Amino acid sequence: MLRALLLAPPGAGKGTQGERLAEIYGVPHVSTGDLLRANVEEGTPLGDEAKALMLRGELLPDRVVMNLVLDQIADHAPLDGFVLDGFPRSIQQAELASKWGAMFGRTFHAVIYLDVPEDELVERLIMRGIEEGRGDDEAETIRRRLRVYRESTEPLLDYYLERGVLVSVDGTGPIEEVTERILERLSKIDVDRPSPSERE
Ligand code: AMP
Repeated sequence: MLRALLLAPPGAGKGTQGERLAEIYGVPHVSTGDLLRANVEEGTPLGDEAKALMLRGELLPDRVVMNLVLDQIADHAPLDGFVLDGFPRSIQQAELASKWGAMFGRTFHAVIYLDVPEDELVERLIMRGIEEGRGDDEAETIRRRLRVYRESTEPLLDYYLERGVLVSVDGTGPIEEVTERILERLSKIDVDRPSPSERE
């Protein structure tokens, strides 16, 4: 059972690689960004609260995302395995996640950092804005999201490095190659991976 976090700047491929890893390891992919966008689309009270901050590229309050994540992975029967994408995203959130993990014996096996140069991130985000029409992939918001990442999320790299779970991977090149690089690194960590037939 894999418990992993994808920790990387916007545009580095967290969503894409998160879905692929979740499929390979047979665990749910929990993306706070996707959950929030679904709430915005459905016009739920949470979505209404989140909308403006998301469009500006700012982080939502910890209380909001914590409830969202706990709903998905912790309520009723806490999940054994998961690939988290987009949470934790600040030291405060990491401390909450670590308390929860220690309480239920479900700390991360790996925190996967996807390394992509800033110029390429901006190019990818502009392309995604054109292709998918995501409101937060617009020039000014892209710059703000990258700044918020550097200020609030990047310090988590040291936090997880100190805890011995950080796995840094080159996030450039074809999607399949990035996945292979991640799998190669995860193969050195003691987690079960179901065979292809077990996944069906
Ligand atoms: P993402 O798709 O992961 O880039 O998330 C899109 C937006 O959702 C972010 O720019 C934030 O506004 C919000 N968001 C997602 N995850 C979190 C989180 N863990 N903490 C605060 N805000 C978040």
